[in-house]
Amino acid sequence: MGGTVRQVGVDIEDIKHLLAYYQALGFENLPVSLGSVSDVIPETGTGKHSGDKKSLLEELRVHIGDCQRCKLAKHRSNLVFGTGNPDARLMFIGEAPGKEEDLQGLPFVGDAGMLLTRLIEKMGMKREEVYIANIIKCRPPMNRDPEEDEIATCRGFIEKQIEIIRPQIIMTLGRIALQALMKMPKLRITSARGHYYDYKGIAVMPTFHPAYLLRNPKDKILTWADAQKVMTRIAQSSS
Ligand code: URA
Repeated sequence: MGGTVRQVGVDIEDIKHLLAYYQALGFENLPVSLGSVSDVIPETGTGKHSGDKKSLLEELRVHIGDCQRCKLAKHRSNLVFGTGNPDARLMFIGEAPGKEEDLQGLPFVGDAGMLLTRLIEKMGMKREEVYIANIIKCRPPMNRDPEEDEIATCRGFIEKQIEIIRPQIIMTLGRIALQALMKMPKLRITSARGHYYDYKGIAVMPTFHPAYLLRNPKDKILTWADAQKVMTRIAQSSS
């Protein structure tokens, strides 16, 4: 054990002393930004991991593996990593896989997904041109809301996907994706939608979740207005 740690140039006794010091100061958790998976997610841009965005995403998928890091693992059929263009300028982030996504291992392939695909096409793009992923990668039983510990365990993965793809704009779909990405649990989708937020220098446009729009079709016009703002910004940056 000690030998393994020393191989990467860290002295285990130093770590023990540092942890005891933090404990004495009253810390229960260490202040690291990527949560429980930060130490093990492959780093990008360090020279240790070569390759383009596609291979970096593949590397991340391999790293996630047959994930057993949270209690959702035992309920899922397939982990839903994400799909689309690794060089996408626009990324959509939903909440969690539903039944159909769990069966197929792909995001947004059920009824809500068909509506999302229609929105993307109405925006003048093909589904394959954008990147689509979720905050959490496994379906919660009975499609319940993801729990805090599940989001905390998984969030490092979506953060890494964003870091690799580095899209120009992210559209979050629904309240949970917005609150989780922004780490702002009090945000309300009705007041946040249509207004840009900033995630690590990337513009975030919150909009309604397509499943909500299936139940409330009169609000489709609001999501279309949000999408038009996104299209304008993308067009402005290409001209
Ligand atoms: N709802 C989501 O939030 N994500 C999916 O992938 C499907 C439905």
